[in-house]
Amino acid sequence: MRMVKLTWSGRLVIAMIAALSITQCTESNGLDDQMTPGSEKTEAVIQGAELTEAEIEGIRFMREEEKVARDVYIYLYEIYPLRPFLNISKSEQAHMDAIKYLIDIYDLEDPVGDNPEGVLQNEELQELYDALIEIGSTSREEALKVGALIEEVDIIDLQTELDSIAENEDVISVYTNLCRASEAHLRAFTGVLPLYGVEYVPVKLSQEEFDRIMAD
Ligand code: MN
Ligand code: MN
Repeated sequence: MRMVKLTWSGRLVIAMIAALSITQCTESNGLDDQMTPGSEKTEAVIQGAELTEAEIEGIRFMREEEKVARDVYIYLYEIYPLRPFLNISKSEQAHMDAIKYLIDIYDLEDPVGDNPEGVLQNEELQELYDALIEIGSTSREEALKVGALIEEVDIIDLQTELDSIAENEDVISVYTNLCRASEAHLRAFTGVLPLYGVEYVPVKLSQEEFDRIMAD
């Protein structure tokens, strides 16, 4: 699968290079996938914790990258009503909510707002969405492969944020949980593909990293 190469810009290329070193979600703090907004986390603002520009940029990007995942799965589920698309689209909504929680507590501008499904503010992510639904619409197999590819990209981008950008504990906590969920989603999509005669080969992750995630 080479199609994505044409549409990825520098950021994702950088993410790919970073992934050549290590791609492993850092330790979870025990919060589960369905993060509950609010609770004890608001203390961070009271304590005056601030975010760097790079962290803010990352949060805005990840907010929309989770939306790409959710919207692609919703779109593909309408064509191919396979259970993983339904279940995982709900999980992506929870991920969007988790990042929205960061946006709210740090009073950032939300790039999603009221944008409908399939509409992204970030042009690179809009191109990605457009390419993925086009490819995913060609067959059930391609749709499921698109799912796995989205999860690979999500893992790499989250891990890049964790490795080089995120310093704030709230941000690290959210990304760590999202990254672990993405690994579970990758296992879910690649676990279904053999039913359709496809053994998934990683597109973005190294075979070694992919094998580690599969073995988790
Ligand atoms: Mn996600
Ligand atoms: Mn996911």
